[in-house]
Amino acid sequence: MRIAVALGSMKPDAWLDALGAAFARAGLEVDIAMFDGRARDARYAVVWLPPPELFSAEKNLRAVFNVGAGVEGLLTNPALPPALPLLRLVDAGMAPKMAEYVCFYLARITRGLDRFGGPHAVRDWNVDRPRGTPPTVGVMGLGAIGKQIAHAVTVFGYPVVGWSRTGRSIAGMHCLAGESEFSTFLGMTDVLVNVLPLTGTTRDLLDARRFAQLPRGAHVINIGRGGTMVDADLIAALDSGQLASATLDVFRTEPLPAEHPFWHHPRITVTPHLSGPTPREPAALQIAEAIRQLEAGTPPQSLAGYVDRQRGY
Ligand code: NDP
Repeated sequence: MRIAVALGSMKPDAWLDALGAAFARAGLEVDIAMFDGRARDARYAVVWLPPPELFSAEKNLRAVFNVGAGVEGLLTNPALPPALPLLRLVDAGMAPKMAEYVCFYLARITRGLDRFGGPHAVRDWNVDRPRGTPPTVGVMGLGAIGKQIAHAVTVFGYPVVGWSRTGRSIAGMHCLAGESEFSTFLGMTDVLVNVLPLTGTTRDLLDARRFAQLPRGAHVINIGRGGTMVDADLIAALDSGQLASATLDVFRTEPLPAEHPFWHHPRITVTPHLSGPTPREPAALQIAEAIRQLEAGTPPQSLAGYVDRQRGY
């Protein structure tokens, strides 16, 4: 069985090694190679932002595996065959790293940690400490990653409210769902964490009207996708004091262009899409196990990472 791999700018050798080891562990004999523009009659493809030529060359693919959780880049590939099953990674080690990222920035916000580093560091033992009620963290998206973020912040004593498309029931947190409960969710949220997929309905979701529904002085952490927030509305909300800060890991255009105002805004922290890097070994193991199941006759629709193209995630 042949596997075609097309991983954009990711390090190919390390991925080929990890995939080779994972397939061996799953007891599958495979011939894996990077896609070089020529057809090899591959049965499966493992991809991250693949070139359209992959799909015009490899006509006999039975499924495509996305080396990440977000599939909007794959779904917009102009050559993607409409009926080809797509699978994405489910957590695969990304969720705990993203939870760690969120907790780090929560500590930074609530302790005012920015006061203590660099040449202008405060040297005062008697600075304010947070002794009041902790801020409520609102998590947008309660899937494989959002649920773990919500759990992690609960461990550190933050009240959590969650929001998703369909109703969820998660112990220890208040869950709201759908458009009709979105304003209520925002009104309860002091620190908004976006971990939604980018779809037709989540694009431009956080705009001036939505930022105005957060309590004044709220903070925003965006680790989902940049396209969910309207850049100019975010800057206006920060400039007016409606928002106190924004920590942004994802952007409409990546890499974030050098001239983009986010780089220099005093209330914005830019990190270069590193909150949840895909860990190679767990990802490769998840893909190999899914292929083992497909080869054993399991329909792709019943695998955990199956992408519902209608929903967009
Ligand atoms: P899941 O598919 O497991 O979960 C998605 C969640 O979003 C679900 O709770 C879903 O609701 C909710 N959702 C989807 N559409 C809507 C909507 N219109 N309104 C309200 N809620 C909605 O995804 P993951 O948790 O695995 O990943 C989430 C996203 O995180 C990825 O798509 C990707 O964009 C981003 N990501 C970013 C990374 C980074 O490094 N910054 C790394 C990895 C992922 P429901 O529960 O009802 O289905």
